[in-house]
Amino acid sequence: MEQDRAITTNAPFGGVSLRKVEREAPADGQALLSTVETGICGTDRGIVSGALGFSYNPAGRDYMVLGHECIARVASADGEGLRKGDYVVPATRSGGGCLNCLVGRPDNCSDNDRHDAGVTGKDGFMRDSFVYSTSDLVKVNDESVADVAVLTEPMKNVMKVFDSLSHITKLSVYHGKDGTLRSRRALVVGTGCEGFLFSMMASDAGYITQIVNRHDISERQKRILDTFDVDFADYSRPGALQGEGVDLLVDTSGDPAALLGMLRHVRPNGVGVCFGTNENVAPASMSGGDIINIVEKNIVVLGSVDGSKKHYMDAVRQLSAWRKCRPDAMKQMITGRFRPENTGILLARQPGEIKSVISWQ
Ligand code: NAP
Ligand code: ZN
Repeated sequence: MEQDRAITTNAPFGGVSLRKVEREAPADGQALLSTVETGICGTDRGIVSGALGFSYNPAGRDYMVLGHECIARVASADGEGLRKGDYVVPATRSGGGCLNCLVGRPDNCSDNDRHDAGVTGKDGFMRDSFVYSTSDLVKVNDESVADVAVLTEPMKNVMKVFDSLSHITKLSVYHGKDGTLRSRRALVVGTGCEGFLFSMMASDAGYITQIVNRHDISERQKRILDTFDVDFADYSRPGALQGEGVDLLVDTSGDPAALLGMLRHVRPNGVGVCFGTNENVAPASMSGGDIINIVEKNIVVLGSVDGSKKHYMDAVRQLSAWRKCRPDAMKQMITGRFRPENTGILLARQPGEIKSVISWQ
């Protein structure tokens, strides 16, 4: 057996350490991958701090390798048209036996019989190398996107929401008189990596897009948003929100007070997407008027989690297009690169962070 350096935790109790773990040889239908970069998100930090009670180690183990955002290179593979040196992104979720899982939609798993790499009962990718099923690898055809392809995993969540929107917005006439979304408005709550990707995608789709937080953000962050024609506002300041109401609301804060408040701005036939999750936040109450608002305006409230292999592929294509036409802004999305020894990066968010990554090579 080979040995790898790996960043591990003991879920659900938390903690983080860099240790040696064994790696088995690939079996039929599996590839050996060398990890290039792994991204860090709030879920990793939640597991490390012991705040995510639903997280658990692989069966019979007292540790789990962390990390679900990854770009890797094929060291050896047979199948799925993969060659040595190809860049790939591993899809994180392994499905079980429900009908959605059986048709390649474990993101819509209906009985909770599934595992998420680095989160629930399955090792993640924060290690020098790993073995993975070739059918769960998404090839990055355009090598020039490799330096930002670690964003594929968070981006696939966004692609799933926009895929769902393409169905929901057929329920009524949703676009403007010119047949486009150019007169429609989108509001994204929260300025983390997911909020950025949602706002960039909304703007690209044609929406007049605003992203908000209840405090200011850095000049570097504002410049990236400018490049994508996304307007930032600190909504703790009176009059910061654009007044006309919005057709698409995406909440990445998970704060019920923010979500409920912003839902009141959604226009008739609009959509409010619940994406962010946060158990450690004060409750907020909903009034009868709030329900009347949703009912009378035919508002769709959509919960969305994860994405399928197709959404990973869509994400690679979208990142590749952005990497070509806005290379500087895309590179600025990676706000820090760290060595695996620097496990402290998993304890706290960095000031002005959009995406911190660990470089394994
Ligand atoms: P993140 O970096 O923690 O971003 C959350 C953002 O929300 C931060 O900018 C935070 O601001 C902001 N925020 C918190 N409360 C707010 C409020 N009341 N008003 C406005 N903004 C507020 O996390 P992320 O990686 O972007 O992910 C976003 C959320 O989606 C997280 O909750 C994450 O757990 C969840 N998530 C969901 C899925 C899914 O499939 N549904 C997948 C991945 C992640 P400050 O911290 O700067 O104050
Ligand atoms: Zn399932």
